[in-house]
Amino acid sequence: MSSEFDFPYDFIGKVLFTPEEIEKRISFIANQIHNDYRDSEKLLLLGLLRGSVVFITDLMRKVQMPLTMDFMSVSSYSGSETNGFVRIDSDHKTNISGWDVILIDDIVDTGFTINTVRKLLLDRNPRSLKICALLDKVERHKVDVPIDYLGFSIPDVFVVGYGLDIDEKGRNLPYIASVDPKKYEKSKHK
Ligand code: 5GP
Ligand code: MG
Ligand code: MG
Repeated sequence: MSSEFDFPYDFIGKVLFTPEEIEKRISFIANQIHNDYRDSEKLLLLGLLRGSVVFITDLMRKVQMPLTMDFMSVSSYSGSETNGFVRIDSDHKTNISGWDVILIDDIVDTGFTINTVRKLLLDRNPRSLKICALLDKVERHKVDVPIDYLGFSIPDVFVVGYGLDIDEKGRNLPYIASVDPKKYEKSKHK
């Protein structure tokens, strides 16, 4: 790993995507969104806290048209294993009826989170609803998730950085990297 990636976490495995690669891909997605929504008067980027914060803030500045953002907080995870149960911890503020909504998350794993939130939002009568995810672990899906805008597909590894955490660590890494489970176990006892 090159020295530009030095960071005080010793559990970092392999860097999967550099800041430059992420930026390039986000520009591409922003362009797609601009083309698809150029006639929309009510575009809402709705992010899931907290993993999507870095992604949504970079993405929104590249979509050069009027839009707004809102957030929901949901939890389905403890540690790194999902249990399929999704709880709404805090809801969005916007009345989304009549809005073109893009639901944004950091990563789709089993798909339970996005799928549950998607159904909930559809009941609230948005004008349209699409899904955008930075990362997708295709081989882990347990339910069908229609992802309209995707950053990158990744294999079945646990990743951190660019908003994604492991026990709240690693969100501020500027790149996306895998976690070395053995090193992580060791680092917990320090
Ligand atoms: P799903 O409901 O699709 O199984 O899980 C989605 C959520 O699990 C994501 O929003 C994220 O919070 C968490 N998650 C799944 N895989 C990873 C991963 O590799 N790294 C991190 N940091 N979070 C993950
Ligand atoms: Mg999440
Ligand atoms: Mg997390």
